[in-house]
Amino acid sequence: MIPYNPLLMTPRRPTRQIQVGDARTGIVRIGGGAPPHGDAAPVSVQTMTAGYTYDIDTCVAEVNKLAAAGADIVRVAVPERKDTEALKEIISQTSVPIVADVHFHYKRALEAVEAGVHKIRLNPGNISDREQVNAVIDACKDRGIPIRVGVNEGSIIERKDKQKRMAELGKYFAGHRSGHLLALMIAKLEEYIDIFTERDFHDICISAKSMDPALTIDIYTEISKRFDYPLHLGVTHAGPKETGCIRSVVALGTLLANGIGDTVRISYASDPVYEVEDALEMLYCLQLRPRIGAELIACPTCGRIQVDLFTLVQEVRKKLARDIEVPIKVAVMGCVVNGPGEAEGADVAVFAGDRRGIIYVQGEKVANVPEEEILERLLHECREFQSKVKRGEAKLGEKKVEIIPPDPIGELGSGFEKIAQHQVEQVTVGRTS
Ligand code: SF4
Repeated sequence: MIPYNPLLMTPRRPTRQIQVGDARTGIVRIGGGAPPHGDAAPVSVQTMTAGYTYDIDTCVAEVNKLAAAGADIVRVAVPERKDTEALKEIISQTSVPIVADVHFHYKRALEAVEAGVHKIRLNPGNISDREQVNAVIDACKDRGIPIRVGVNEGSIIERKDKQKRMAELGKYFAGHRSGHLLALMIAKLEEYIDIFTERDFHDICISAKSMDPALTIDIYTEISKRFDYPLHLGVTHAGPKETGCIRSVVALGTLLANGIGDTVRISYASDPVYEVEDALEMLYCLQLRPRIGAELIACPTCGRIQVDLFTLVQEVRKKLARDIEVPIKVAVMGCVVNGPGEAEGADVAVFAGDRRGIIYVQGEKVANVPEEEILERLLHECREFQSKVKRGEAKLGEKKVEIIPPDPIGELGSGFEKIAQHQVEQVTVGRTS
């Protein structure tokens, strides 16, 4: 037999650490582990509002909604003076650190600093006057405000002698299908970071985003070897949630499993709440953050299904997110054939069949209800179990008894008797005819 060779997650790469926030919002630490910085902070989740920042009430509502979804830090765009003018009020009405996203005008950065913003996002390549960049660095240094220095694949196109320059750069990563781009992004970052180093400013984290997941993995891997600043991971312009989720998690999950990455933003052309939810789920799956709320396991369904499981699962998912903060494992299984094995380890489980559901709590059967009552009864059991865990009367993941599959003849009804009598040919769990 081939011996088992455990494939462990690579330990987090030690970096410098930055701190974002204040006494009111709480401090979110990013990175760490490199002396003299303390232990690496948990990987934090960032997102960005989709509405106009100058519309204070809407922006505050959006920031608060994103914070409630689990965002540690929220970024807002400040393209105009009226946006930075709104910042002070927004900051006073929200409870997470706010980052001002500055693109072309250094004055927006200075105004944001003045308004008490907790971090600036800046691409020095978009501000042509070095003195203006220096003014922003000095203002941030005075106030102890960190800066994210970012390059995006789409915003670093070489304009002078482009072909010659790209050919030169391509030599650094010969054979790489995007070697010139990889080299260009690294060269630009080095150039930008030099500006900060010259002013002895090290309160920075770095991003280098591409819309190509494979290039994203390569660029962050390369910059992790070259800089000891914490890294902000992201795939830019990933698309709508439906496809962007795969693009983002393939790249970010690979990097995080390799120990690279200190804060993440998944970006979708969809409601940013999904960005937060999916980023958190990715971190939970990689065991980089302790889970908050229920973990839902559900079967994909097959021809044995006897209830409307897709609708049930969606309803369970939404209501668990609303009602449960303890990391209970909940399984929703379509039948008893594979259900018990697949639900192994679940604290609360339902096995459906013949328009009914049998509900178990830590292996003990607690109910057998018709389909229309499954949702409410399952949630009731989850809430009860959560209360018991909080009172110390139950422990997560501690099954009291083995789940014994429901008796398909007695409890759920089945064709087994008819099969035995050769009255039917196919095994389907649930229906008696
Ligand atoms: Fe099919 Fe049952 Fe497995 Fe669901 S649990 S996929 S219904 S066999």
